Amino acid sequence: MENGFIHLCQPDGCKSCGACCGLYNYADSSRDALVIRLKRRTELWHDGMRDSARAAAFSETMKHLEPQEKLYEVIYCCEFLGFIDEEERRVGCLLHPAQNRDADLRDASFYGRELCDGHFCPSYHHLSREEKLALIEIIDDWYLFGLCVTDIDLVKEYFRLVSERIYQMPAPEAFRNYHLKEAAHRFFTLKVSWPFRSPETNRFGKYYFDGSQYMISHIDYERFGCGRSRFDRIFLSLTSRFDSASELARAEALIDEYIEEFARCWRQMY
Ligand code: SF4
Ligand code: SF4
Repeated sequence: MENGFIHLCQPDGCKSCGACCGLYNYADSSRDALVIRLKRRTELWHDGMRDSARAAAFSETMKHLEPQEKLYEVIYCCEFLGFIDEEERRVGCLLHPAQNRDADLRDASFYGRELCDGHFCPSYHHLSREEKLALIEIIDDWYLFGLCVTDIDLVKEYFRLVSERIYQMPAPEAFRNYHLKEAAHRFFTLKVSWPFRSPETNRFGKYYFDGSQYMISHIDYERFGCGRSRFDRIFLSLTSRFDSASELARAEALIDEYIEEFARCWRQMY
């Protein structure tokens, strides 16, 4: 954090985000598959390719070494995203000056230096300061952090529901408490473990791709004889599909329990 500015891309030494570099746009964007990609790129880059004159050769090599199937063809997946620390806790740009003895090599990339340098995703504008800082306290893992920090609805809805339950927005520092952090972390982990996740491959969070453009998904509650769920935004963020009224009821109970779990911990402390 510099002069009050919260750097969501690289918030601290424990994690970072690479979502807008196309990190989650591979057909197989599981953690294991991404780790293999990122490790291989990082090793190759530092093993003799770390040079603007060799960047094109690096790109070509990656095209042959890596599976190219994407979720959405129109979104570019940058081959220069790798690990930027020895512990492999942070993903980041291999062309960035910090990785290349102050030489900025990003002009060798698809987007170019200016675009890469000046890009701030909507989360920078739409998440409040408290929401950003709280999320940074809660998640210490690059894979989960990138998925959640870019999901504005999920973050806002969680803190809104929690705040309603405890009659205040918890201060970001409150999440330094182990129990509160764990309770909140369990909720955000649903982003990767949600049991009602749709198997459709053209969906990502609340969006789906109809072949030419993004559309916002919709859950048809009427077929279950009920109105819009109070957790609708969360369900869409979690790419949900419900096949019966009882599945929907179970999903609502699950979200409610995660919110209540945090509230219980809070009441025990304050
Ligand atoms: S998606 Fe947002 S937070 Fe993530 S790397 Fe891009 S600009 Fe940064
Ligand atoms: S060159 Fe740009 S798109 Fe590629 S990893 Fe670096 S910042 Fe991301």
